[in-house]
Amino acid sequence: MKLHKASAAAAAALVLSLTATACGGDSSDDSGSGDGGGGKITIGIKFDQPGLGLKKPDGTYAGFDVDVATYVAKELGYDAKDIVWKESPSAERENLIANGDVKFVVASYSINDERKKKVDFAGPYFLAHQDLLVRTDDSSITKAEDLNSKKLCSVTGSTSAQNVKEELAPKADLQEFGGYSECLTGLENKAVDALTTDDSILAGYASQQEHQGKFKLAGLKLSDENYGIGLKKGDTELLTKINDALKKMESDGSWQKAVTANFGPSGYKNEPAPAIS
Ligand code: GLU
Repeated sequence: MKLHKASAAAAAALVLSLTATACGGDSSDDSGSGDGGGGKITIGIKFDQPGLGLKKPDGTYAGFDVDVATYVAKELGYDAKDIVWKESPSAERENLIANGDVKFVVASYSINDERKKKVDFAGPYFLAHQDLLVRTDDSSITKAEDLNSKKLCSVTGSTSAQNVKEELAPKADLQEFGGYSECLTGLENKAVDALTTDDSILAGYASQQEHQGKFKLAGLKLSDENYGIGLKKGDTELLTKINDALKKMESDGSWQKAVTANFGPSGYKNEPAPAIS
């Protein structure tokens, strides 16, 4: 058994090295021009956002951002099997791009001036709005100011946390975590009173089987969140190619198909496709 495993591993290594040799040259890896050529491409997504970017228990990935990324990769010359998915928490996205750990990031990533100092954005490819998730039986939070006397959860490095601190409810007791699952647990056991992020993300959590009936969205549209695809600053060639891919995704109906497939189950009412700049 051991021997069998070892020889299988050796064979796999041989195949890999042959593949690497065969594809050597031009753009055979994810640090190349992004044109494919048989190599792999590493793309940053969220792993914990149902409807957008989710790593499923069987190890596969699903969501609108996953579909957008897969479509764009295909246009750049990469098959779905050549994509390596890299988890990209909100606070780490700029660094992952700047360090070249990912070719691009498709992760509910709002375009804003602060981030534009560090990365470039293709798109926008989606428009969401900041909202609040509260417990179904809680009627004390109906507007942003109500948060000033409440415990609020958000994710580090997100525009939502920033907006709360700077304008929406500066006096709220804001607890910032690295990911959203801690916030959901906190909301359920009353350690926090609300969770704030984009409505597109909150709708996915509210409709998850384990949360059904427990939470509701306030429906406040507290901001405009234009999702872009983040890429290395100054890579105008890649930027143009991604924008072309996004335009094609919209015009051939794939964008709408992906919206229906991924947001349909949560009942999220999305905005029309934004114009790509
Ligand atoms: N779209 C917002 C942002 O880019 C919130 C969602 C997130 O953190 O991914 O910060």
